[in-house]
Amino acid sequence: MRKKVFIANWKMNYDFHETTFFIRNLLKIVFERKINHNKEIILAPSFPFLHISNQILQGTNLNIAAQNIHHKDKGSYTGEVSAYMLKSIGVKNVILGHSERREFFFEENNVLSEKIKIALKYDLNIIFCVGESFYERSNDQQFHIVKHQLKETVFQCSSDKIKSFYIAYEPIWAIGTGKTATFEQAQTMHKFIRNLFLEKYGESISNKISILYGGSLNDINAKDFFYQKDIDGGLIGNSSLKLEKFLKIVQS
Ligand code: PEP
Repeated sequence: MRKKVFIANWKMNYDFHETTFFIRNLLKIVFERKINHNKEIILAPSFPFLHISNQILQGTNLNIAAQNIHHKDKGSYTGEVSAYMLKSIGVKNVILGHSERREFFFEENNVLSEKIKIALKYDLNIIFCVGESFYERSNDQQFHIVKHQLKETVFQCSSDKIKSFYIAYEPIWAIGTGKTATFEQAQTMHKFIRNLFLEKYGESISNKISILYGGSLNDINAKDFFYQKDIDGGLIGNSSLKLEKFLKIVQS
């Protein structure tokens, strides 16, 4: 049985004090209420706070993720952060392909493919986001779009690398908008994605790969999603910034 995975994407929110305060309180409650049993919790704070966050989480089974990496190893790329650097401070996970990176930083599948290679080189697990725009869904192109996004990126990897991936289906029109996909729409897409893994890599990998939903998940709607056969948890933005809301989602 696949473990449920919950990833808090804090984006460009929270300073040092807010980040550390949140994590310390989260840890306290998680252990008091024993809510991490058979669940994986990953927090994605901003770059400057990854190291301290990792130190606070030492000895627990909660983990951190970076929100991005540069696609090169090192060099003259002012302002960028590499997988090599993150590895040196104990980061084990990175979010790639988020629609905000695709939209505001023009990251296309070819660059994402390079980022995947460098992440794998430094043994980072990859939370890889896919999803269609509102226009694409209105034109019934969602399956084609998601298949294409995977084909040009994740599916370039050999089967022994797939264990390093989580896939996050995030319909762009549902991110930060308060509009969620229905759980039926999400389940249909998740099943479609699992079938693509089946066709490409076979049954064992397709049964094991975790496919998370993201897009305006909250403490009220989360359980409808997590009941679905092919939805293995969530990538959570806004609702992960409120401790009690995030905990309720994890407990859904
Ligand atoms: C996200 O940014 O990955 C996300 C799912 O955000 P939100 O939960 O706010 O829609």
